[in-house]
Amino acid sequence: MRCVRLTIRGIVQGVGFRPFVYNLAQRLGLRGWVLNDEHGVRVEVEGEEGDIERFLEALRNEAPPLARIEELRAEDRPLQGYPGFEIRKSERAKDRLALISPDIATCDDCLRELFDPRDRRYRYPFINCTNCGPRFTIIRDVPYDRENTTMASFKMCPECLREYHDPANRRFHAQPNACPVCGPRVELLRSDGTRMEVPDPILEAIALLKEGKILAVKGLGGFHLACDPFREEVVSALRSRKYREDKPFALMCKDLDTVSELCFLPEGAKELLLSRERPIVILERRPRVRVAPSVAPGHRTLGVMLPYTPLHHLLFSDGLRCLVMTSGNISDEPIAYRDQEALERLRGIADYFLTHNRPIHMRCDDSVMKVFRGRPLFFRRSRGYVPFPIRLKGARRSVLACGAELKNTFCLTKGEYAFISHHIGDLENFETFRSFEEGIEHFKRLFEVEPEVVAHDLHPDYLSTRYALEQDLPRIGIQHHFAHALSCMAEYGLEGPVLAVVMDGTGFGEDGAVWGCEFLEVDLRGYRRLGHLRYIQMPGGERAIREPWRMAAVYLERATEGQGIPDRFREKGWEVFREAVKRGLNSPPCSSMGRLFDAVSSLLGIRDLVNYEGQAAIELEQIADRRAQGSYPFGISDYIVDPDPVIRAIEGELRKGVSRAVVAMRFHRTVAQMILQIAERARDERGLSEVVLSGGCFQNLLLLELSTELLEGRGFRVFVHRKVPPNDGGISLGQAYYASRVEV
Ligand code: ZN
Ligand code: ZN
Ligand code: FE
Repeated sequence: MRCVRLTIRGIVQGVGFRPFVYNLAQRLGLRGWVLNDEHGVRVEVEGEEGDIERFLEALRNEAPPLARIEELRAEDRPLQGYPGFEIRKSERAKDRLALISPDIATCDDCLRELFDPRDRRYRYPFINCTNCGPRFTIIRDVPYDRENTTMASFKMCPECLREYHDPANRRFHAQPNACPVCGPRVELLRSDGTRMEVPDPILEAIALLKEGKILAVKGLGGFHLACDPFREEVVSALRSRKYREDKPFALMCKDLDTVSELCFLPEGAKELLLSRERPIVILERRPRVRVAPSVAPGHRTLGVMLPYTPLHHLLFSDGLRCLVMTSGNISDEPIAYRDQEALERLRGIADYFLTHNRPIHMRCDDSVMKVFRGRPLFFRRSRGYVPFPIRLKGARRSVLACGAELKNTFCLTKGEYAFISHHIGDLENFETFRSFEEGIEHFKRLFEVEPEVVAHDLHPDYLSTRYALEQDLPRIGIQHHFAHALSCMAEYGLEGPVLAVVMDGTGFGEDGAVWGCEFLEVDLRGYRRLGHLRYIQMPGGERAIREPWRMAAVYLERATEGQGIPDRFREKGWEVFREAVKRGLNSPPCSSMGRLFDAVSSLLGIRDLVNYEGQAAIELEQIADRRAQGSYPFGISDYIVDPDPVIRAIEGELRKGVSRAVVAMRFHRTVAQMILQIAERARDERGLSEVVLSGGCFQNLLLLELSTELLEGRGFRVFVHRKVPPNDGGISLGQAYYASRVEV
């Protein structure tokens, strides 16, 4: 006989862990108890030695699907002589850390009930259980109990209560548990907010979508705008009402078969689409699919996801197979999630609202991924993943990391856990900034974190930096590209020294220049800038980002002494800018790889002006002919890469009539060659054989693949992002890693 006390940490609350333990103990004839405490779950079991062994093994191997055991400690206790096994009341202690589950797609058991006419939740749009349903977006406070969620106002009916209290039931302590008798309801509103009296709002909504109407649909973390993706007049109407010129719209498909009719499914894509997190996956589209051109102009990919709430599944239950499902906002504003606010903001876009009375507490956008070498690569880490933490190796103080300006996330750390926020967005307007501040307060409360230091970017004008400077805490400023490198190192627990190749659009450099293609030697004490892309002026500063032709012109001017400046650049007023550049007026020097991609894109006549960040580079990647061989020469001296020979070569190729697709490919190969040559030099001279690739340019999978392949071919160990995006969405993790470790 033996008695053991277990302390279990991780995601073990609100995921059916206690009933699982209860049933397991019953099965093995063990006695004792289980309870939730502020760290997770505590168990005491007493019984035969062998049964206890079996119990411990099953705890790890048979835990419920959403449970995530991070730590399991066992200690022997004197025999207690328990009469049986029971679930005890939760204990509250001072120092709490209970992890909170992300929102999880409807599980198969719930789906079966949803479409079973004999089930009492037949076609009930809020069906859920301990294995699925809303979590992060409905939690207002911890502990995770119903009264601390937005379900508090719904009183469970006797049937639901019975399930809730029955340890053998799948809905035992499922906090959002509900049914048609006692739970939330959907309703259909006209755009003026008046309610439509219809027998079945969902069937009515489907009929309206089939007619070509645009509907705002309330989801888990906010409103989507939905419409028929096969009718150009409908999709382009949505586009113009949203003031969204070219950014692709995501699609939601009924099932995997529908996805594979539209897109190719590379290895790993199926698993990702079907995963409980249900992200948007960006996939290459099949030739001649009939999706309206306005869905994703200029793209040979489509962003696709599968239904993840019961309401979504019901939308596809009467003939529809595919819908545009884009975030419910105008232009770059944050996604609408409060009912009244959504009505006001989306009134001019949506013809109808399919909404309901379960409030959303936390706004949370869909996550976006691509598949790289069979495994997921984040473009945006949000719904389904947040707020699950990332382990920070060796962290020794609590940090608030404020992140960057665009695609902002923040990060709070406690112990070795880094809690990265959901996607906040571009901190350019008041709305977004407010949700940044509110988000930080919310996370502090949920995880009871009191940061000891605040980490921030060096850019003085980032709103995230200004926020950091207002905090009454010791501050640590971290250079943007150093933070990019650190974010990738944090994922792997690397301490360096490594060679970090960081390529993005812009970041504040320590010499006052705009940095963006940096070769850094990095460890956890700091970085040394070995070199970078040779500086060039950005004519008109920030404006050059929206007008890639300016970069093309300034590169041509320098590389060819003005030979080959196309007439269309002169017509746009190049002569004026040329003078400004010459005299150094409003033309800051930059080493940005993003701007070099812009220049080449414009040179090839793909994009002279862009409507969203990175558009010119994305279209350059899309057009590249993967089969084309060859690359262009470039200069390199002392880790400074000179791209002027590349510009001259491209100019020559275009004059000879070489196709843009071939040039685009050769340009990509050239950039990969630059990385390789820098890496070889750094290995020879500085002994660095581990290479970290970070920065938004590495969302270009063609560039990522070519670089990784070249480097690995020469024996380098290459590290690419897998847990956070390579773009600025990952910056907060890098800041947190450094600030939690560095000596101050
Ligand atoms: Zn379920
Ligand atoms: Zn009920
Ligand atoms: Fe960046």
